[in-house]
Amino acid sequence: MSSNSNLVLIFDTTLRDGEQSPGASLNEAEKLQIAHALARLGVDIIEAGFPYSSSGDFKAVNRIAQEVKGSIICGLARATEADIEKAGLALEPAEKKRIHTFIGASDIHLEHKLKLTKAQCLEKAVKMVKFAKSITQDIEFSAEDAGRANPEFLFELIEAVIEAGATTINIPDTVGYITPFEFGHLIKSIKETVKNINQAIISVHCHNDLGLAVSNSLAALLNGARQVECTINGLGERAGNCALEEIVMILKTRQKTFDLFTNINTVEIARTSHLVSNLTGFPVQKNKAIVGANAFAHESGIHQDGVLKNKSTYEIIDPAEIGLKTNKLPLGPRSGKHALKSRLGELGYDLETAELESAYARFKELADKKKQVSDKDLISIVDERQRESVIETFFVLERLQIACGTGLPTASVEIKDLKQNTLLRTSALGTGPVDAIYQAMKELINIPADLIEFSVHSVTEGIDAQGEVTIRLKHQNKVYTGYAADTDILVASAKAYLNAANKLLEKLI
Ligand SMILES: [Zn+2]
Repeated sequence: MSSNSNLVLIFDTTLRDGEQSPGASLNEAEKLQIAHALARLGVDIIEAGFPYSSSGDFKAVNRIAQEVKGSIICGLARATEADIEKAGLALEPAEKKRIHTFIGASDIHLEHKLKLTKAQCLEKAVKMVKFAKSITQDIEFSAEDAGRANPEFLFELIEAVIEAGATTINIPDTVGYITPFEFGHLIKSIKETVKNINQAIISVHCHNDLGLAVSNSLAALLNGARQVECTINGLGERAGNCALEEIVMILKTRQKTFDLFTNINTVEIARTSHLVSNLTGFPVQKNKAIVGANAFAHESGIHQDGVLKNKSTYEIIDPAEIGLKTNKLPLGPRSGKHALKSRLGELGYDLETAELESAYARFKELADKKKQVSDKDLISIVDERQRESVIETFFVLERLQIACGTGLPTASVEIKDLKQNTLLRTSALGTGPVDAIYQAMKELINIPADLIEFSVHSVTEGIDAQGEVTIRLKHQNKVYTGYAADTDILVASAKAYLNAANKLLEKLI
């Protein structure tokens, strides 16, 4: 593919940069589940992790390389032989693999972090690209902090690594400082100055510290970049990265203006966003572009009237384009298994018999309680089931009884220890009902862990809505996220605690 083509490659780094979001730790099975979702979404390149950084990351990248087909699987490596070798090893089973190596290019990084002269940096970069090339042909090179690098040195470095075999050159705005005009100019000058630039694809990696990640990426595309590094829901270090769903839907909605396209299957967007939000425990803000709960909600009477007469009056994107079907009748207590299966199919879930049975049982329970079960409820049911199936379970909730009011909030909790096949039971006091539940759980499970975050939000509107609870437990400097949904938020709180505790135990054993 030449860099003059109209195709924009989508490089997703949810599993690498996104997983670096403080508190977004994912286990191997969760990473694999997200990688499958990204492949289904049609992402061209999945950056699956940084194999040298930990044995957990190595194993996750290796498993994704083994099992996920369709996309190129990429591993990050610093410009050292040990890092590159590890990445190569982890990527070994992949059908299509890419090694992504990087080195700091700005004066600040060279002087303070790397303690290298420009000449030494250039020599090292060339040597490492050649070394990586001995493992695979597809090599991406990143000039870290390129936004603040001396342009003359940057051009020289790019030319040298392309000469050494790099096939993609990534220009990151590592600190999220640059503005669209400056970034567009930088990409343009690379395109005009670097002699062999047409032998490589220019990629960009923008951070959102000033809220400009998407705008900067777009400016780069207008000036010749043909790969965007992005994440689902804009996750990532600090304020995050360029949001995949936003850049993709800008190019699709304004196709005539930009004349660029991607390989993304946009109907998978809503579902992938929900999955990533649940597994990382980062709720999507309601007014978030494209995937926020209010993104297609029309509140003003004039707007509602307009949309009813003709959707395009106030709607620039049909919600169905990102996989949301808003006009379907909700399912209810009388809906059968077949109706559930077919609606889930429309939402993109193809469940196996056993999974369908379990989803149906949960659906019936919910339908009896709230009468109308919306698409969002269904997504939450399936995601919760899939989530449970990807972690090893040590404890499950059997019974929960709460007493509260102006007296002493008390929780009586009964959980089943699946390994010992015994029931454990206790009661505890707390400052409120949730605290009482967690005090009781702590006593029963007996692992020292601090609760560092607790949040509740509703899946749909209304007093009978399901509450989704996300919690984070900290044990020896590692954070474990737990998630559960139920019409009773106290039950959801107890289940979320057990979900996090099960993940913690899985790591310990
Ligand atoms: Zn980054």
